[in-house]
Amino acid sequence: MRKNIVAGNWKMNNDLAETSEFLTHLKMQLVKEPEAEVYIAPAYTSLYHAFQTVKDTPIKVAAQNMHHEKKGAFTGEVSAQMLQSVGVTTVILGHSERRAHFQETNELLAQKVSAAMEADMTVIFCFGEELKERKAEEHFDVVKIQLQEGIFHLKKEDWKNVILAYEPVWAIGTGETASPEQAQEVHAFVRKSIADKYDRETADEVSILYGGSVKPNNAKEIFGQEDVDGGLIGGASLNAIDFLAIVNAFE
Ligand code: PEP
Repeated sequence: MRKNIVAGNWKMNNDLAETSEFLTHLKMQLVKEPEAEVYIAPAYTSLYHAFQTVKDTPIKVAAQNMHHEKKGAFTGEVSAQMLQSVGVTTVILGHSERRAHFQETNELLAQKVSAAMEADMTVIFCFGEELKERKAEEHFDVVKIQLQEGIFHLKKEDWKNVILAYEPVWAIGTGETASPEQAQEVHAFVRKSIADKYDRETADEVSILYGGSVKPNNAKEIFGQEDVDGGLIGGASLNAIDFLAIVNAFE
């Protein structure tokens, strides 16, 4: 079902003590029934503790990545089954930093998406164009290919476990945000692409988040767009006060 969602991607920030302190504060300050579903994605090393800390609250824990194989000789990697063993049932896949620094291709991401679905996990699937692609007005084509090659192989029924996150690379961590109109234009395009590939019902049910320098002062306007269902938040999710203000931007 289409929901409002705010997800914090902590990247390689916050050790165990910092995770504990943040989540203890967040769960105390968060209203009992927030207007948005709230996710925090800490480092692997904090996942178990994070899950234990928030398990009786509306806050959910997500992983930032996973490997597509179930087990084996893949030094340094973590499988869907391992994530589930510590209580984690949501994973971010396709973040632009994974694509850029760890050579994650659409083809590899399609395998990860399939592995996550097979394990009955929820996927937050990220995609978005780079600055040169936006300047060349290729952003719709780039986004379409990322979706077609990375996630459009799923069956219609799998989409209940999918959250999409449009993250223009030029807006991530740069302080430069897509305008609410730019975000809306791409989100509407994504929803139409899903309707064309599957059907209108599937398109209307999926939550599409915007990510890229969302802050307390711009969240309300961005989340107010018709096809924007919330945000994937990097920098501002490291500050509990800012993150809470973004969660409360729906109210
Ligand atoms: C992100 O990394 O997903 C992100 C959106 O980062 P920031 O909010 O810092 O731009």
